[in-house]
Amino acid sequence: MVRRIGLTGGIGSGKSTVAGLLVAQGAVLVDTDAIARAIALPGGIAMPALEAAFGPRVIAPDGGLDRAAMRQIVFADAGAKVRLESILHPLIGAETQRQAAAAGEDAVVVFDVPLLVESGRWRAIVDRVLVVDATEETQLKRVVARSGWAPEAVKAVIAQQATRRARRAAADAVIFNESLTLEELAQQVRGLWERWVRPGTR
Ligand code: ATP
Repeated sequence: MVRRIGLTGGIGSGKSTVAGLLVAQGAVLVDTDAIARAIALPGGIAMPALEAAFGPRVIAPDGGLDRAAMRQIVFADAGAKVRLESILHPLIGAETQRQAAAAGEDAVVVFDVPLLVESGRWRAIVDRVLVVDATEETQLKRVVARSGWAPEAVKAVIAQQATRRARRAAADAVIFNESLTLEELAQQVRGLWERWVRPGTR
């Protein structure tokens, strides 16, 4: 029986929507993006190590990470990016495991991991990889409508992420979230839940 599902997809593919539908089926969501943000908020567990590594220039007045300052440093210095990731990744990993363990042994845990395919180490953690796929045109439309980003900014993010082909190659199942109503999407998620989480109970 599937207990740990890795959920991924490109920006605007509909990952968060699918995550919400899986939670409606009874899954516990572990959102790695939210964890990455939380550990660098004021009082977050990454803050002491970030200050030690990069100094007060990356600390915002509220005591959290000054993301704009950090972005500039990383943009100018590839070594800084490696140092930053070597601080954040183990902390994100530990907090992810902690939340999954807190869900209990019988829980179905969904790990929402935008860069699951890119980071490669998730395969060993999850039983199945679920990819939400959409055409780049649709990704672009959704993100512009949702966040008001400039199309170029969305395109730049898409270009940095894994290709649709690479993601699909890593998938145990793909939900093609294109021209689907939200109810049709919900139906697909329910079907997947029946296959993966409740096989033999139909
Ligand atoms: P990001 O990577 O930017 O967090 P995401 O992959 O989590 O994006 P969502 O936030 O789930 O994507 O979806 C992006 C937007 O598209 C949202 O506003 C969502 O409501 C909408 N959306 C997703 N799927 C559908 C659908 N099948 N029909 C209509 N709107 C949709």
